Amino acid sequence: MLQDKDRIFTNIYGFHDWGLEGARARGQWDGTKAIIEKGRDWIINEMKTSGLRGRGGAGFPTGLKWSFMPKESDGRPHYLVVNADESEPGTCKDREILRHDPHHLVEGCLLASFAMGAHAAYIYVRGEFIRERQHLQAAIDQAYEAGLIGKNACGSGWDFDLYVHHGAGAYICGEETALLESLEGKKGQPRLKPPFPANVGLYGCPTTVNNVESIAVAPTILRRGGAWFAGLGKPNNTGSKLFCVSGHVNKPGTFEEEMGIPFREMIDKHCGGVRGGWDNLLAVIPGGSSVPMVTAENIIDCPMDFDSLRNLGSGLGTAAVIVMDKSTDVIKAIARLAHFYKHESCGQCTPCREGTGWMWRVMERLVTGEAEKREIDMLFQVTKQVEGHTICALGDAAAWPIQGLIKNFRHVIEERIDQHHGGASRVAAE
Ligand code: NAD
Ligand code: SF4
Repeated sequence: MLQDKDRIFTNIYGFHDWGLEGARARGQWDGTKAIIEKGRDWIINEMKTSGLRGRGGAGFPTGLKWSFMPKESDGRPHYLVVNADESEPGTCKDREILRHDPHHLVEGCLLASFAMGAHAAYIYVRGEFIRERQHLQAAIDQAYEAGLIGKNACGSGWDFDLYVHHGAGAYICGEETALLESLEGKKGQPRLKPPFPANVGLYGCPTTVNNVESIAVAPTILRRGGAWFAGLGKPNNTGSKLFCVSGHVNKPGTFEEEMGIPFREMIDKHCGGVRGGWDNLLAVIPGGSSVPMVTAENIIDCPMDFDSLRNLGSGLGTAAVIVMDKSTDVIKAIARLAHFYKHESCGQCTPCREGTGWMWRVMERLVTGEAEKREIDMLFQVTKQVEGHTICALGDAAAWPIQGLIKNFRHVIEERIDQHHGGASRVAAE
């Protein structure tokens, strides 16, 4: 369980001044120049030591990702791009950083960019985040005015510019290569990987794309040391993390907690338990809508970290925990997600463009029960045709929730079909 002394985000609820003065009072921008003077290799090594895994959902090691950037310049500029296009259903953590503690991110952008040889960074903010963008821009302006960024940032000799770009509301622009396309002024459609952005990224130049939280925790890690962060959580699942809990708990919300905290302990401590008591818990989607749901009995004692949830057949993803009690129509819930993915597919590859629509239409038939039972297996097979056969992860994300539903709640789907057909034949007989 996270101790107050180890908390990174001390203004996550906006009780204090989010501006530069408040940020400085909370320890931000302290010794930034001295960190830069330790050099790029030192910074990247500390990030590796911390064990930080990317907080955007995929959990790729951040220090390793930074080390992929070319050490020597071949004449092309290097860029850092921050993904603030937070759109994963259930996820509302980056927005709290942008709203209430944006200097964590601004300072992180300077340190990360320096470490990767980038003189410019772009923050791509979700279209709907108006107030968040205003706070972020104000924080950037304050940092320029105070000489913390810009020419000779913090007196370090490093020139650094930071730009905010406002998205237009497309979920797919949160996929890193679609984001880069959008930033370049093109249609936001994912690129094939490889090449990864570290080799060919923004404007064809070496680029690292990181999530807001990953960059925002970097200054504290570098001030306190990678070993401090690695001492929290569990091996390979280190540190603290912002969790966002929504759904049928008594007090939904976003909070910072140690990685690996057991699910039940986390919900009792931060959310006042499950609505109606623990017996009333039916299912949980533990990592944003792109991971399979798990049953109450499977998750109740599960540590909330990447590896433990993967072993359960699900994932930590963005740590957006969607809790469903026994009043939930799980089929309808997943059908709603299927509609979301159909709507957000960029249409570039056939299995996703056609498959998401196909899956959604069958899901709608399962909701009413008018489908035939053989369609359950057919639907599962279609998810397997989509999964792994598309350009980007949206195809997998559309397939996995449906797979989770069929694996865990097949009996509910079958009962619905029996009910419908039984009911329909009774009506016919009358
Ligand atoms: P990914 O595993 O393909 O990549 C993760 C990161 O590691 C990327 O930056 C990628 O460039 C890098 N990477 C991976 N292998 C590499 C290699 N061999 N060399 C160099 N770099 C490499 O995952 P992804 O498609 O970027 O992200 C998928 C995740 O995004 C999902 O798990 C989901 O949880 C999450 N997601 C988050 C949101 C949100 O709002 N935060 C929205 C949708 C999805
Ligand atoms: Fe577009 Fe879907 Fe293909 Fe991703 S998987 S590139 S969203 S069509």
